[in-house]
Amino acid sequence: MLIGVLALQGAFREHEKSLSYCGKDIITRQIRLPQQLEGLDALVIPGGESTTMGKLMNTYNFFEAITDKAEKGLPIFGTCAGLIMMAKGIRGSEQPRLGLMDIVVERNAFGRQVESFEADISIEALGKEQFRAVFIRAPYILETSPQVEVLAKYQEKIILAKQGKFLAAAFHPELTSDIRLHRYFIEKCVG
Ligand code: GLN
Repeated sequence: MLIGVLALQGAFREHEKSLSYCGKDIITRQIRLPQQLEGLDALVIPGGESTTMGKLMNTYNFFEAITDKAEKGLPIFGTCAGLIMMAKGIRGSEQPRLGLMDIVVERNAFGRQVESFEADISIEALGKEQFRAVFIRAPYILETSPQVEVLAKYQEKIILAKQGKFLAAAFHPELTSDIRLHRYFIEKCVG
């Protein structure tokens, strides 16, 4: 299985590492040009800075290329800034986004003072064991349509959601050694 990780900016190497631990049959590819999307079974959009990522995606003509593949069924997992890119709505911002999921998000939503923090969260879909979630200037999801499955909340805020083949997390699952969420994406979205 070939999984691309958008490598314009942000935490892409860590995602490659987590993905590679998910199985011997998993090969990762760093995606820097739209042509490299050819042949992928799935795509990961990492965390970083969503406005910068949006500018770079514009420069390299990624918007049309990714939405086109998504419409044809490419599974996509967005984390943190990647979640922001997946959203149809970003509160108070017109910044470029892919708009693949029926969610409205709020950027830097856990407060300016709290740049980053870690928390043990419950993700029922992953089993009983808590998941150590790393939040870095994290967004959260304000609104979802009925098509969106809410998979986890923290402090009443939605931080993990799935819509068909699309998965979005407000935290950074690639920054710990727990690969359950990457595995979940492979099993439930790529399958
Ligand atoms: N705050 C960043 C943004 O709005 C996201 C942070 C992250 O990806 N760690 O793009």
